[in-house]
Amino acid sequence: MEKNIFIQKKESGNNQIAESDWAERYLHGFQARKQEHELEKSRELIKQIDEAITIVQELANNYGVNAFRIRAEAFHPLPHEDFIKRFGGAEEFNLIALSNKFGIFLDINNAKRLDLNNFMSLVHEILHTASIQKFELTAKGEQSHLHQYRSGFRLVNLDKENQANEKFIGLNEGITQFLTKSAYVARVKNLPKFFEAVDELEKNLSNDDKETKVIFPPACRAYQWLEKLFLDLCEKIFEKNKDKFKNFDEVRSFFIKIYFNGDINEAAKLIMTLAPGALRELSAIKQFNDKESLEKIKKFRKKYGLPEDQ
Ligand SMILES: [Zn+2]
Repeated sequence: MEKNIFIQKKESGNNQIAESDWAERYLHGFQARKQEHELEKSRELIKQIDEAITIVQELANNYGVNAFRIRAEAFHPLPHEDFIKRFGGAEEFNLIALSNKFGIFLDINNAKRLDLNNFMSLVHEILHTASIQKFELTAKGEQSHLHQYRSGFRLVNLDKENQANEKFIGLNEGITQFLTKSAYVARVKNLPKFFEAVDELEKNLSNDDKETKVIFPPACRAYQWLEKLFLDLCEKIFEKNKDKFKNFDEVRSFFIKIYFNGDINEAAKLIMTLAPGALRELSAIKQFNDKESLEKIKKFRKKYGLPEDQ
């Protein structure tokens, strides 16, 4: 199985792709650096981090992908005030973890262990690090700069002023949420240490319903409308491409494989079977649920024949 992390080295006009073993080693070293005000991780927390990483690895393996394995050293717990200062607005979204090129930052109020909901937030963020990652490394004198230009479906170009132009963030979060839920159902829900928390979530379900229904913790439901958009998009693409796919599941898996390890152009071709303009409009959908973003999605659904989101 191929690895899914790439670093493009740019030095004095030369452009070379570093082999993936090197890229993996470089990123491990880069992410292991301590961040300002970083807190110590308890042994129990490290154990939980490793457990969450393994669950994500297994999930990627199910899609035939040997995903980049982030290490516990790449997790940086920060004091609450530092976390908020660094990732402003975090309170509003009730965010406890965030991943970027430095690894995963945690705002867990010095908790020694994670509860079910925080554990699922972690799974979500680890998925971002296990999806395909592409970087550009620019060496300028002593300084080197690492720019992440692809993470799953998310693409980031820098313009001349170094302003980031991001694409497919909404689609990327929709797929990440779908996979977070898959991990919950396949593994996390059945971990004995979370039995009590799962019972609490499902206390209003009848015994019959418990067989068929799942009540997800809030961290699995942060991007409901984007997950729905992703799934409805797959349904529509299946409808238009019955010569290429046997069923809806095949379309969904096709997108998930691209998220982990694939060529985004293959997905682009499929999206354009709806209409050529669909690609550009989808790429502009962000992860927010403000009025403007939701309006954009509503228009997209209407224009390309996706059902209305109830
Ligand atoms: Zn996310």
